[in-house]
Amino acid sequence: MKVTPLGISGFIPTSKTDSSSFLVEKNNSLFLLDAGTGVKKFLEKDMAAELSKSKKLHIFFSHLHHDHTCGLTWLLKLFKGKIFIYVPKSPLVKFEGEKIIHELTSPNMFGSSLKEWPNFGDLISYNTTELLIDGVDIKILPQKHSGGSVGIRIGKFAYITDTEPTKKHIDFIKGCDLVLMDTMFDKKDYEAVTANNKKAEHGWSIGNGIIASKAKIKQLGLIHINCFYDSHQINNLLSETRSQFKNTMIPQEGVSISVED
Ligand SMILES: [Zn+2]
Ligand SMILES: [Zn+2]
Repeated sequence: MKVTPLGISGFIPTSKTDSSSFLVEKNNSLFLLDAGTGVKKFLEKDMAAELSKSKKLHIFFSHLHHDHTCGLTWLLKLFKGKIFIYVPKSPLVKFEGEKIIHELTSPNMFGSSLKEWPNFGDLISYNTTELLIDGVDIKILPQKHSGGSVGIRIGKFAYITDTEPTKKHIDFIKGCDLVLMDTMFDKKDYEAVTANNKKAEHGWSIGNGIIASKAKIKQLGLIHINCFYDSHQINNLLSETRSQFKNTMIPQEGVSISVED
């Protein structure tokens, strides 16, 4: 299996990084996890040539906040095969995914509605925690976030974003080769946002390191990186996480990572 990060920035894209999107290739099937500004990398020649070989793209959303969906309409022009969109519904999350996707692609928001796209395959809303797509097993974990979000596991790879990872994540990611985790905050900022019993809504360095260590995963990648952090703060994020879980890295956009099947 191959995982290619397309956008690792949290909330706002920066001059160097895009907002959330990740491409996963497994058993000749292609999955896109979130469609933030990272989708723009589909424009790049090498990537476009690679994508042109695929007849289907399965798009999974962690949730539908703007930074995870703003590249969706670009796919009308950027993917020639058929697009299948999967959104979680109640009781997994509180939002009405199908309705939101139709609104985002409605003529008021965009030139052509989803059902008229020549590359539209299907829009599927699900409320189960396991799906089988083209023989690939996808596991879903409902998470706490404003409106709710879901964690997604494909084989030994897990994508955990827009939540603060908790105890239930330990079982969900157990045995994973690679886990990408929302790490929006360092220790100082996490303590500031959670003062007065407020919820963080996102992960933080030390907390994620502890979860990764307890789950005994092989490698942890930090994503949804705080867009306001400079390189010094990003390095600090890494070293704080490594104090709990040594094999931690920040993935590079456009550089594929091999994951054991
Ligand atoms: Zn986000
Ligand atoms: Zn969010």
